[in-house]
Amino acid sequence: MPQYGFIGLGIMGSAMAANLVKAGFDVTVWNRTPAKCAPLVSLGARQGKSPGEVAASCDITFAMLADPTAAHEAFFGLNGVLAGIGGGRGYIDMSTVDDVTARTIAAAVAKAGGRFLEAPVSGTKKPAEDGTLVILAAGDRSLYEEAAQALDKLGKKRLYLGAVGQGARMKLVVNMVMGGMMTAFCEGMSLGQNGGLDGNQILEVLDAGAIANPMFKGKGPMLLQGEFPTSFPLKHMQKDLRLAVALGDELGQPLHTAATANETFKRACAAGHGDEDFAAVYRVID
Ligand code: NAP
Repeated sequence: MPQYGFIGLGIMGSAMAANLVKAGFDVTVWNRTPAKCAPLVSLGARQGKSPGEVAASCDITFAMLADPTAAHEAFFGLNGVLAGIGGGRGYIDMSTVDDVTARTIAAAVAKAGGRFLEAPVSGTKKPAEDGTLVILAAGDRSLYEEAAQALDKLGKKRLYLGAVGQGARMKLVVNMVMGGMMTAFCEGMSLGQNGGLDGNQILEVLDAGAIANPMFKGKGPMLLQGEFPTSFPLKHMQKDLRLAVALGDELGQPLHTAATANETFKRACAAGHGDEDFAAVYRVID
């Protein structure tokens, strides 16, 4: 049976690693804050000493890290993945990063004799817990095939998108649309209530028409209650909008709506709401 590593046990990673352990796989976990390994160890996982040690001892190592800085540090840092990858072993980074970060790590993995796949995901905390994420993979095709059994415990659907970087781009497109939708939704909810409409009735009308969607349905009650328990941290949505706008710069494409949404999310981060759910952007919309 292949040995799997899992690096990064935040909201998403802890649920994903748990699904691999529960499926009966042999899993070694590592997290920068070691205390977060304890629930996984109770389920039956081993605890690794460093990302490098995990990558050296596992056939395939997964990562689910905050952002490009975290992905770089866990890979290139002291006792990072680079110290242990090689011999054809696989590294699958599922973090949401930009295409340049993915390609930089891919090149270093190849140089060290390993194989690399990027595999960011669409779906939030609950789909991570339920193993129903949508996996956007790109890179080494043989690794994609070999990891299929594990990937299918994490997601309900997976796509192979070609060269490294295309997974990151697909993920940024998805979240750019989502960030724009969320700010438009919050402005509509605010405008309607400032205009004397009932919040529940606005939600009911939105849900009955052509723009009904699971996000409005799921997040709507949070807006009305003013409580935003975190599934997708707001700071990560701002990161994704920032990276999408940067991709627009790179490709010479104006992104008016995404750029404006990014500014609203930056304001929410500056106001101290970065660790709340991304629906808390509502707090900075008048
Ligand atoms: P999270 O709860 O904030 O977890 C972030 C993880 O990254 C933690 O394990 C954290 O370690 C680690 N980390 C941060 N900086 C690090 C560094 N410099 N070196 C090593 N490890 C570092 O985030 P999440 O919600 O699980 O999201 C993880 C990734 O998935 C992000 O790229 C996010 O955009 C993406 N994503 C999230 C969702 C969602 O709904 N939550 C959905 C799809 C994709 P510590 O525990 O030590 O802080």
